[in-house]
Amino acid sequence: MFKKILVANRGEIALRIQRACRELGVKAVMVYSEADREAKYVKLAEEAVCIGPAASALSYLNMPAIISAAEVTDAEAIHPGYGFLSENADFAERVEKSGFQFIGPSPESIRIMGDKVSAKQAMIKAGVPCVPGSEGELPDDPVIIRRTAKAVGYPVIIKAAGGGGGRGMRVVHTEAALINAVQMTKAEAGAAFGNPAVYMEKFLQNPRHIEIQVLADKFKNAVYLGERDCSMQRRHQKVIEEAPAPGIPRKLIEKIGDRCIAACKRIGYRGAGTFEFLYEDGEFYFIEMNTRVQVEHPVTELISGVDIVKTQIMVAAGEKLPFAQRDIVLRGHAIECRINAEDPYKFVPSPGRITMWHAPGGPGVRVDSHVYTNYFVPPNYDSMIGKIIVHGDTREQALARMRTALLETVIEGINTNIPLHRELMVDAKFMDGGTNIHYLEEWLSHHNR
Ligand code: ADP
Repeated sequence: MFKKILVANRGEIALRIQRACRELGVKAVMVYSEADREAKYVKLAEEAVCIGPAASALSYLNMPAIISAAEVTDAEAIHPGYGFLSENADFAERVEKSGFQFIGPSPESIRIMGDKVSAKQAMIKAGVPCVPGSEGELPDDPVIIRRTAKAVGYPVIIKAAGGGGGRGMRVVHTEAALINAVQMTKAEAGAAFGNPAVYMEKFLQNPRHIEIQVLADKFKNAVYLGERDCSMQRRHQKVIEEAPAPGIPRKLIEKIGDRCIAACKRIGYRGAGTFEFLYEDGEFYFIEMNTRVQVEHPVTELISGVDIVKTQIMVAAGEKLPFAQRDIVLRGHAIECRINAEDPYKFVPSPGRITMWHAPGGPGVRVDSHVYTNYFVPPNYDSMIGKIIVHGDTREQALARMRTALLETVIEGINTNIPLHRELMVDAKFMDGGTNIHYLEEWLSHHNR
């Protein structure tokens, strides 16, 4: 096992990794920008290094600053968390070239999965079902583009190979709009992602977002820890996640889980990863793979009893996975609400000083957050300030526990989306389970009218 790890991230996930390190008896070096001096994990750290000013480009995305922080503190490995440099293959490569272990998959795996066209091609080879669409990148020839769309069937969606964060996508309903849409998406993709390549998929009308969590070691052992339902989204950003996914037959989950494991073995995947699917009419369609720990990993931890972050560190240190698929037993139901510093209905960010923070507690309640009373939420980063996660024997019990937890939560001084979560936890359709990816936005458009 490592003696010391550098945590190259901020916010709640930095605290989460620090907690895993303490349990493993590994020293954690925390890094922080000038705006993050006050964060709980920095105050609790045995060692912390300032890596630059508030702007992410100068701190959390600053590769030389992060690598030299690892050098001066004698860390052996770097945990990238999520976001920032976590899916940057060049960073993983520089970390390894500098003599540190990157806590994640190989740079090659990150590179293949980071390009959605090559990711899809790898999945098709590995027998994972994908959304029907173009075979790889779309060519320039309008005749071929029209022919492809006709074969796929309208509506289609044009997506950037290098896209991410819900950007670089355009839905096309008619042939008349097709060529112009392809050209516009290409131009935008080139400007935003430095890669103008686009591909085409059938646009699924009412899918759910279902994802499979995997863990793999260097010895080609791989397991999946069931699925998560992340269909409650706004602008392709997840707001509420749960596990298991209501109403999906276990047989179908087992089948797709086995495919994901086979794909991991085939591509030599190591570490934690997530296969994201759209699910419609009993079929799964792969859309992308995330090669890192995800925000919503706690719901899986609560139903499986597996510590995903600790396991990530263990397999990066060269240990074997301590369990096989038959050892994975899922129990009960878990729900996560992302707590954002923002107006609950208009979504305007609300950074500033938290004058009162009271976190919920009680049976089956977990809070992952780096904030506290008198903490200043900096305006420079994502608005998520924490997560409330609950576990119950049944979905009904989990919902009841979440309602209680949200009732107990007091956050003053800034706006948060707690009022939105309180309403959604008593919404009849959400309580039924199985809402699709458009449900939350439709709900909001009625609410805001
Ligand atoms: P990103 O990497 O930007 O998150 P994804 O490929 O994961 O992009 O897609 C994000 C979201 O966009 C999905 O969760 C879904 O809501 C929507 N989406 C993507 N592809 C399709 C498709 N073929 N049909 C319908 N919706 C889609």
